[in-house]
This record gives sequence, C-alpha cells and structure tokens, in this order.
Amino acid sequence: MPSLTIGSAAAKPGEIVHGWIDAVDHPTGGIDRFPVIIAQGKRVTRPVFWITASIHGGEHTGLIVAQRLATPQLVENLRGTLVIIPTLNPAGLRTKDRSPYYHNGDPNRLFPDPQRETNQKDRLYPPSALESAYRKVFTAIKDSQPVALLDLHNAQIGSLPMAFRDPVFYQRGRQKSFTRIDAQALQAKVGDMLDMLGFTIINEFAADSYVEKHLHRSVSGSVLNGLNIPAATVELGSWMYIDDGVVEACLTGLRNVLRWANMLDGPVEPITGIPVIRPGYPVRRCIHPHAPQAGIVHHLVRTGDAVQVGQPLARMTDIFGEPIGDDDGLLRSAYNGFVIGWQHGVVRYKGEPIMVLAIKDTGEMTVVNPY
Ligand SMILES: [Zn+2]
Repeated sequence: MPSLTIGSAAAKPGEIVHGWIDAVDHPTGGIDRFPVIIAQGKRVTRPVFWITASIHGGEHTGLIVAQRLATPQLVENLRGTLVIIPTLNPAGLRTKDRSPYYHNGDPNRLFPDPQRETNQKDRLYPPSALESAYRKVFTAIKDSQPVALLDLHNAQIGSLPMAFRDPVFYQRGRQKSFTRIDAQALQAKVGDMLDMLGFTIINEFAADSYVEKHLHRSVSGSVLNGLNIPAATVELGSWMYIDDGVVEACLTGLRNVLRWANMLDGPVEPITGIPVIRPGYPVRRCIHPHAPQAGIVHHLVRTGDAVQVGQPLARMTDIFGEPIGDDDGLLRSAYNGFVIGWQHGVVRYKGEPIMVLAIKDTGEMTVVNPY
C-alpha cells in the first residue's frame, strides 16, 4: 500500500502530521482550506479511520475533541492510521455561524448524493465551490478505504450527548447488487461501532422524511450509503459551549471505537461524565410537541427525563403568565420516550417546535432505496 496522503498531509509511521485540503477560493484572493491531521501507528498503516468535525460553524466541541484525540501516547499504541478533519467549515467557524457566509443553506446536506454520484447531467446548476470541496473530501475518504467514519456535531443548548444512526438503503440504482442482507450487515457494523462509542443511540428520522430532509447528503449519510462504510453522526451536547465532561466522554468513546476497529488494545474504558440512556428498544428522533398557538413556553420536563403518553411536557402562557388554550395551557405527550433537548428559548409562534424527544422506533433501519 503506498503511503497515505490527504491534501498536503503525508502520513509518516509513528508521527502526527498536519496539512491542508484546498477548499474554496475567495473572489478577493486567498482560500479557505480544510485542516488535516494524520496520526499513524509505527508498525502498520491500516486500518484507516476518519473523524470529521465542525461542519456547522457554531458547533465547537468536535473541534476541541479533534485537536485533543491524536496525542503522542495514542500514536505509540496505535495500529493503522487516524485521519482527522478538525473543521469542514472554516468560514462558519470564523463567524460562529452554522453555515458559511458564501453558502445559503445547510452545509451538512452538500456531500455527494449516494445515488447520483456520477450522474451530473440532470443537474440544473453546476456544483457550488463548497459542494465541489466536499466532493474532494469524499473522494479522499473513498480512496483511503477506511474502516469507518464518525462526524462530530453539537445539538441544542442543554441537549443529550448522543449518536444518530442513519438508515441503510439497498437495491439502489447505482448498486443493484447491494442486497437487503448486505444492508443489514452494514447496519449491524454501525450498531457494533456505536455500542463501543457508548453514547445514547438515536435513529434518524424515519426513512421517507430522511431523504426529504436531504440527510442522505449529510457527511455520515453520504459515506454510509455512497461508500458502504460504517458512518454516524455524534452529537456532543450544547453548541457554542465546551462541557469538559462531554469532551472526555467523547475522547473515551472514540478510543473505544478504535478498539472496535482493532486499532488500539486494552480494555473498553467506561463512559463517565454524561448521561447514557439505553431504554432497551430502538428509539428515533421526534420533534414534539409544536405550539398550538403563539405564547410563552414553561417546560415541565428536562433533557434525559422519561415521558409517557398523556404526560404534560410544557405549559403555554400569554405574556402575563396566564395559561392559554385548552387543558390549562398544558401540552401533553403523544408518545412514550425521553427528552433529548429543548428547542431554544421560551417564545413560540404558532406551529413552532417545543422540544425533541426520542420515541420507540418500530421502523426498519434498512430500507429499499426510496428515491
Ligand atoms: Zn451539526
């Protein structure tokens, strides 16, 4: 195997090297580049494992984790090669915004479409500079034939640290031969990897709305379904805020995942410093309830709390604090599950979401390609 080069970073046995992937040229001169850290063990270069972070510019915990994971001590014990991209959105990171100022939309919906990777002719517009830059990253991931990828994010302020699991599609146009059995095997590998990460595991939105929300073009969705490589999104609690407990839990979880990948020895380290909820059945993300009218939200349950059908989740009041609506202003849960985070703030227009729950998932995590 020739030595691994990602952008300008060339892996060296037993060393941590830095480099760049050229990304987006500025009209005024200069360029945005994605930083690359490669940490390689002394003896063998494979397997390769990828960690990407901070594609949403206000989500900083992944960046801190990315900077702290590859230490000389880790390299001393590492088998294979760890490729780390501390930020996939340098512009958003500079301005502390979710999206870079030169892209109108969510950057985490711009990785190559797993279905249409080579079919550019039915596009209305040429790819944007950022989309082309992400294709470069995707190609680098593909060429390095990694064992897996994890993409690090933050969710709402006060939200539960958790791993999001994407559905795996089969009998796809591009890969007719990828069967349900293959999809189940891939999904099982994702499950084993996330069990080793040790965080609460949440399934992504049901498969039909998954594509509607363009999640198949997220970093993890694109790598999972486009390359058939285990990949998942890790949410590290509050955005724009560093909780040391979450950082340590993530570093520990990632070392455990490297053990799963046979890249580190030693016993699995326990995850401490964050709550981990294992309800005994699969759960999926569900935004619920929504404000039936405009008003002020008084939350009655917090992140991590179990909830049951009929249980009051919040009370809506007017600006004077008087309950509004039926049932003394109470909004009751339509589901059994637990709270994974509040939508920000207490003011709501009619129809705006109040919080995010994890509810029992009765759907399949391997589905016939829905598009
Ligand atoms: Zn994010």
